[in-house]
Amino acid sequence: MSSLATIPPPPALLRPLNVPPRLMLGPGPSNVPPRIQAAGGLHLIGHMHPEMFQIMDDIKQGIQYSFQTQNNLTFAVSGSGHCAMETAIFNVVEKGDVVLVAVKGIWGERAGDIAERIGADVRYVSKPVGEGFTLKDVEKALAEHKPSLFFITHGESSSGVVQPLDGLGDLCHRYNCLLLVDSVASLGGAPIYMDKQGIDILYSGSQKVLNAPPGTAPISFSEAASKKMFGRKTKPPSLYVDIKWLANYWGCDGKPRIYHHTGPVTNFFTLREGLAVLAELGLERSWAVHQENALKLHKGVEALGLKLFVKDPALRLPTVTTISVPNGYEWKDITTFIMKNHAIEITGGLGPSAGKVLRIGLMGYNSTQIRKHGLLLIWIV
Ligand code: PMP
Repeated sequence: MSSLATIPPPPALLRPLNVPPRLMLGPGPSNVPPRIQAAGGLHLIGHMHPEMFQIMDDIKQGIQYSFQTQNNLTFAVSGSGHCAMETAIFNVVEKGDVVLVAVKGIWGERAGDIAERIGADVRYVSKPVGEGFTLKDVEKALAEHKPSLFFITHGESSSGVVQPLDGLGDLCHRYNCLLLVDSVASLGGAPIYMDKQGIDILYSGSQKVLNAPPGTAPISFSEAASKKMFGRKTKPPSLYVDIKWLANYWGCDGKPRIYHHTGPVTNFFTLREGLAVLAELGLERSWAVHQENALKLHKGVEALGLKLFVKDPALRLPTVTTISVPNGYEWKDITTFIMKNHAIEITGGLGPSAGKVLRIGLMGYNSTQIRKHGLLLIWIV
């Protein structure tokens, strides 16, 4: 056999890397500010070095702050928001468990799909896209299905709805059910109080309000969730996201840390900085800024004669605004025009909202009143 490589180097790789400037005003990822970008350009250290463990401990505290929780089992998974979703469901759910999923956009569909893949008995309760659930809706479904886990999305980025969470934890616990909440698109942009609201499992993502690159996802588990996971009869179906391994890697089990997987060191630097920026600004201030800027955007959109997709103002998600696609227009023509002429990303709908809406995300660093936002609105006229 000849030792000469017969496949030549691809010409594409012999050209320089091309990353055009973009204003990222879709539902994520958002732009990465210079401080976080700089953290991503730092030299590497080992994933098991003591200094790395210190950075991971900082991240843990940053997540506890942003989630408003004292849970010890709090860390970041090495993967995107979907990885956190799988970490939650793979560890908490065993084959045959009844899982109730609230569907009001795409994220419930995804969570249900994950639970179905591991043999859970998945039941669904649905609301039209653009609406949220009331406590009454949820109670009726809990009484009917008697699940051991209830999934709901806080910031439904596909529809632009923020789901009220007060009372849900107590309600689920009265029905002997754990509450799992997705806050990928809302963390830092809309109030959420993990402990006070009785949320058992909460996860988020790095690339939205936290303005870090995609690839890590904060997650936290309550005592009750831990009890269910550590008391399970079978191993979780994934070694990569096995809670026992992850708890050890993140120093949550009181034992010396041993190698499980090579954590994304650079992404941990950037996540640490994203959480630091939020801690410096303060959660309340961050929530207020997102609300103020979203309201300004809503006003501007309505002043142009466009219609906000979410009818109830109290249910409008401050991080992602949905606008009904104006009559006579193709959503794709609009997003393409804005990208081509202004290098600004906004997107169309996703899942049940596809074809119905345009989505504008104002998250973290991008939730500001810089001139380019004005430009976007001027164009829509
Ligand atoms: N949940 C919500 C509410 C989201 O907005 C997203 C990302 N758009 C996800 C989950 C999935 O996150 P990722 O793309 O990081 O896997």
